[in-house]
Amino acid sequence: MELAPGVHRLENVNGSNVVLLADEQMAVVDTGIAGNGEAIVQEIRKLGRSPSDLRWIIVTHFHFDHSGSAAELHELTGARIVAHSEETVAGQDGTLQLRKGNEGESPPSWYRWALRLTGGGGRPARPQTQVTFPDTPVHETIEHGDVVPCLGGLRILHSPGHTPGSICPILTSPRVLFLGDSVLNNIDRLSRPLMWDRSKRRELDASLHSLRELDADVACFGHGPPLTDDVMTRVRGLTDRPYDLPTWRIALKNWGTLRRWRARTRRPGHWGAGS
Ligand SMILES: [Zn+2]
Repeated sequence: MELAPGVHRLENVNGSNVVLLADEQMAVVDTGIAGNGEAIVQEIRKLGRSPSDLRWIIVTHFHFDHSGSAAELHELTGARIVAHSEETVAGQDGTLQLRKGNEGESPPSWYRWALRLTGGGGRPARPQTQVTFPDTPVHETIEHGDVVPCLGGLRILHSPGHTPGSICPILTSPRVLFLGDSVLNNIDRLSRPLMWDRSKRRELDASLHSLRELDADVACFGHGPPLTDDVMTRVRGLTDRPYDLPTWRIALKNWGTLRRWRARTRRPGHWGAGS
């Protein structure tokens, strides 16, 4: 789906959204989970372009559901993997690597107990030790204010909170803002990722406030459909409501959301085609 001239949300990928910026030298923003490499290459070919035209693989943050296919896509196309320096660690051989992991912040134990006692616990999450994450080299690090020379310039805004090196890149023409996981659109409204650590919520609040003065006609999210109407009014509306709240209030607020989500996903056919 072409969201704006040259900006394509790719089909047939799993995990996060993957968006292709189709300039002479192309870029993708995020790659989804592992196993999407071939699918992304096919999507590039469907647009009549050569995979070797892909120059940059930009990850909004290190989480596995966004960066899982970065290494394989690099192998397939030769494109360079780009991430904020705070998402990187030194590898054993001295090369720069992407941090490893998934969303993995577990809720406080009192919250888990309360959910279980009220029958809302569901299946426990798979322990992280059973999940293996691929090694992902980082070829270029970026900082706040850097501009990737693609589609007239993709400006990098450092937006720590969800992770230390999360970024929200923005194109100025067309005006497209990429919010990664700093803002989600996968329930019935914009929301912020569930975070249990109050200091991180405070950090995310500050990052989102710094986006308020931007102009954008399209917003892309790591999860959920893009937004094309009243984009900044809605982003500002979200940031009007502070996230820097005590953890018990976050737990109460999310209680309802989690229950609604569970009820919806239990309905027959929810996970079928088109959902
Ligand atoms: Zn994430």
